[in-house]
Amino acid sequence: MGRPVPQCPIRLGEPCSLCEPGATGPQDCGLVWLVMTDPELRERLAELRRERGTV
Ligand code: SF4
Repeated sequence: MGRPVPQCPIRLGEPCSLCEPGATGPQDCGLVWLVMTDPELRERLAELRRERGTV
């Protein structure tokens, strides 16, 4: 309560729902880590963001 809900960097436009077991937010989400450390996945995510016109 009172804390801003972090957005999920992967599920664009959705708040983090802590869908990853053990994650307390995007900062220690295993899935986010996986995508950000894989150049191809990271590029694909950047593409999706561009298509949506969001940052
Ligand atoms: S736990 Fe990770 S993948 Fe799940 S909503 Fe949060 S940031 Fe996104």
